Formats: sequence, C-alpha cells, structure tokens
Amino acid sequence: MKNIFLSLLLIMSLSAFSQNQTTSSAPTKPKLVIGIVVDQMRWDYLYRYADKYGETGFKRLQKGYNCENTHIPYVPTYTAPGHACVYTGSVPALHGIIGNDWYSRESRSKVYCTGDTNYKTLGTEGRAGRMSPDKMLTTTITDELCLASNFHSKVIGIALKDRAAILPAGHAANAAYWFDGKSGNWISSSYYNDSLPAWVNAFNNKKLPKKYLDENWNTLYKLSAYIESSEDDNSYENPYSIESKPTFPHEVSKMSEKNPEVITYTPWGNTLTFDFAKDAILNEHLGAGLYTDFLTISCSSTDLVGHQFGPNSVEVEDCYIRLDKDLGDFMSYLDKTVGAGNYIVFLTADHGASHAQGFNRDHHLPGGVVTNDTLWKICNEFLKTKYGKDSLIGMLYDMQIYLDNDRLKQSSLDKDVVKKELISFLPTVSGVAKAINLCELKTTPLPQAYLDLFINGYNQQRSGDIQFILDPAYMEGFTKGATHGTGYSYDTHIPLLWYGWGVKPGHDYTQTYMTDIAATLAALLHIQEPNGCIGKPIIGLMK
Ligand SMILES: [Zn+2]
Repeated sequence: MKNIFLSLLLIMSLSAFSQNQTTSSAPTKPKLVIGIVVDQMRWDYLYRYADKYGETGFKRLQKGYNCENTHIPYVPTYTAPGHACVYTGSVPALHGIIGNDWYSRESRSKVYCTGDTNYKTLGTEGRAGRMSPDKMLTTTITDELCLASNFHSKVIGIALKDRAAILPAGHAANAAYWFDGKSGNWISSSYYNDSLPAWVNAFNNKKLPKKYLDENWNTLYKLSAYIESSEDDNSYENPYSIESKPTFPHEVSKMSEKNPEVITYTPWGNTLTFDFAKDAILNEHLGAGLYTDFLTISCSSTDLVGHQFGPNSVEVEDCYIRLDKDLGDFMSYLDKTVGAGNYIVFLTADHGASHAQGFNRDHHLPGGVVTNDTLWKICNEFLKTKYGKDSLIGMLYDMQIYLDNDRLKQSSLDKDVVKKELISFLPTVSGVAKAINLCELKTTPLPQAYLDLFINGYNQQRSGDIQFILDPAYMEGFTKGATHGTGYSYDTHIPLLWYGWGVKPGHDYTQTYMTDIAATLAALLHIQEPNGCIGKPIIGLMK
C-alpha cells in the first residue's frame, strides 16, 4: 500500500515537472542540435556564389550569427582532424587524430583513423563497416550531451565518409551511418548495434543513388551564367574515368551501374545525405523527446568534387548552388518536424582548399606541386650518399618524415644527427620552405601564430620526427585538381554560421577558432565541455 502511495506521488511530481518544462513560453533547451560540416568549404564560398544562392539555404543561416573570421588552429588540415576538432574542441596534440591515417611504428604500416577490426560491418559484405571512434582520445560535445542527460539524449552521425560520421558522433553515440561505395548502401559498425534498423534497410532498398545518377550531371543554370568560375574546359581539372575532357554534361549514369560510389563525386552525394538525415529524424524521433538530441551531418561530396576539379571550376560552383537548395529544403523539413525555434544549427567546414596549380601558373600566382614519392626518393638518395645506408626513412606522409628507428640502430647511426642533416637538406628541394624537428618545436624560429599550428598538431605517440612546410600554394601531389593540408589561410579559413534556438543574430569579425565551436555549444546547452577542449565560448551569439 505504502509503495503504491509513493509511486502515485512520484508520478504526480514527474507530471508537474514535465508540465513546467512544456508550459514556459520559450524552450529552456533545444529539442535538437544539428551540426553540418561541409567538407572542403572555403569561407569565401559564402560570398563568391551569393548571387546564385536562394534565400532559404546559406543566406537563411547567415541571418543567424555569422563568425566571419574562423580559423583552424593546427596542421595538418585534413578531414579526420577537422571533424575531431569541431566536436572535441581540441587539437591533434590531445585528441590524437593527427590525420586521416598515420604511420604506426609498431606495425610498420599506416593505420586508418577509424579502422577497427574488433567490429563487424552492418549492411553489406566486406570491411567498410569495421570501424569505431576508439583512436580518438578525448570526449566530444556529443559524448558530453549523453553524459549530461544520463544517456537519455539520442546522438546520431551521418556522412558519406565513415570518419565524418563516426568522429562527430563520438564514443557514446546511438549510431553512426556512412555510405558504402561498392554496394551503394548506407552501412554501420557492430560497435553501435547488432544490426541495421529496418528504416535503414528500407532506405537502401529505394536505390536512390542510381535514380539520381540516371539524371546525369548538367549545370543548374545555363553554362554561360557561371561567370564566377573558369571556362568549363581547361587543363586544371581531372575528367571522370569515362571522359576525355572535364566538361559538362558529365554522363555519370554510364558509371553508376558498376560503381555506385560515383555519386560521392557529384552534388547528389549531398542530396542523398540529407535524404538519409530526414529519414533518421523521422524514424529515430530526433527532437521529439524530453531531452535534447544531436544529429551530426557532413556533406562529403563537396570535398570529392573539389579535389577532382579545383576551387575555380564550374563543377564546384554548381555543387554549392545545389547544396544551397538542399540546405534550404532540409531547414524547411526541420521547421515542419522539430519546429522553428526548437532546433539550433551550426554550419562549418573541416578545412578549405588551395587553387589548382595550373590555374595559379596561368594567372601568374605563386604555387606548385611536390610529390611525396619524389621527395622520399630525393631524401633517401641524400642519406645514402651521406651515410652509405639505404631505407633510413620508414615513412614520408602528410608532410612528415618518420625515420626508421630499427634501421638507424642496425646502422649505428645517431638519430639526432641524421635528423639535423635532413632538416638542413630539405629546404634545398624546390617547393619546401622549411623543415622542423617536431621534438623541438618550442625553439623553432617561426612566427608564434604559425608555430602554434604545429605545436597543436603534434602528438608525441603518433606524429613523425620531421615536419616539412611547403611554400604557399604548393600542394602534396595533385598536378590537376586541388588539395589541402597546410597551415595557410586558404586551408584554415572556414565558415562558421549559427542559427536557431538560443542564437542572437549578428556578425562577428573577431578571430574565432574551430575549437570554439564545442566550447560554445557546451555553454549554450549548460553541459560540461569535452575533456580536451581548449576553445572559448563565442559570447556574442548568446541571447
Ligand atoms: Zn579532401
């Protein structure tokens, strides 16, 4: 009897509590947080193509709080460290994600940032789902939301690229889903669940990639209207495998049957991502419960199109015009399902990109290409001539050199001496500006702001011995198309837009950093910041 009485009392107090929660005029917390990371989006794309954007996509988000001067505070500027930084508020020195992959001295081979053979693939055959976030050493803002709500909040990560879904969703996520190019399915890892939910299988059965690719890729507006970009036919771009020229119309339908992955190299990769995100919101009831949920989305196709064609291409411009429409459509879906004012969106990028080298050359701008294989060969020759020993370099990757410790020992060579020799030699190679000893960063003669990028990017267990810095607009590889990875502003300057619940509209021209995003979310949501967070809350946007 006493138990029944106590239970009744508890139910009455809980219902009073939930009424308090729902009857106040403005919600005290958002129902849903949506993080959108546009892969390889340079900040200037917000303005460069503005004449062709509508009012409901980027421009609607810009009516929120616009941090115009947001930079990445570390090198190297690649996808995995970018996503890890946005959501941990931390840098490779602490979160450990120093690249998409890195060299393991123990296994004497490269390891992938989210590869994990402890888990099985869900949704297809093969290894594409054998993944986890375990190599990320710090918590994410999504983890902290789970901790703060005693795991009542739902967190789901979605992106074409596995790393762009897994790292943002964090360690405690309910699920992360990514696209398998071989099967054309959205898949996952047994790290999260034992099987795919029925709604994911149903989505895969719709076979949307083929449907989209059957349309082929033509420009949305007349080709002559793309005055913001280079001529369609030029020598800076990579044609698709079936083409002799990199020009519209791209007959992607011809490739889709054998290779569904081709959708990731078209604007429809982003459309497909938002289609999947909408189904996730609907079927997982995101933003429909008492607790704040978090959906992380990354648009990966912008990166693949950018690498293929370069920032000054009609293809990149058309990709952003179509993404603008997809964004507008997604926001109106959020209005209908979660309700305007109940959700907060932030949009940023994992890195920018440099212009294609041929484009720079033809416009008398500095720049060039350094290929890793050639540089490795040159360094090896130098060491061989100097010491009479071959293969003293274990790996040259991501602008870092890992010396082979075993070979040095066998050859009775002092590592510090060899390092010093190589560091003096490297800047004699065309395109290499400087080489630095990663163990002695504090005393390296570089401007402090620039040096900090390397200090933040250096992880003692995972990084190499020597970092080489290329001259501005020099790229690792990519004789055509473009890439990223440096500490120069074309790679580090990213958009950062905030919109919706809790956001005071405004423009901010002060310097903010990628690491400030997680710190700001923690402040807005009144939850603990991620444990390795070094960012500061952006107070200008707080209501
Ligand atoms: Zn990239």
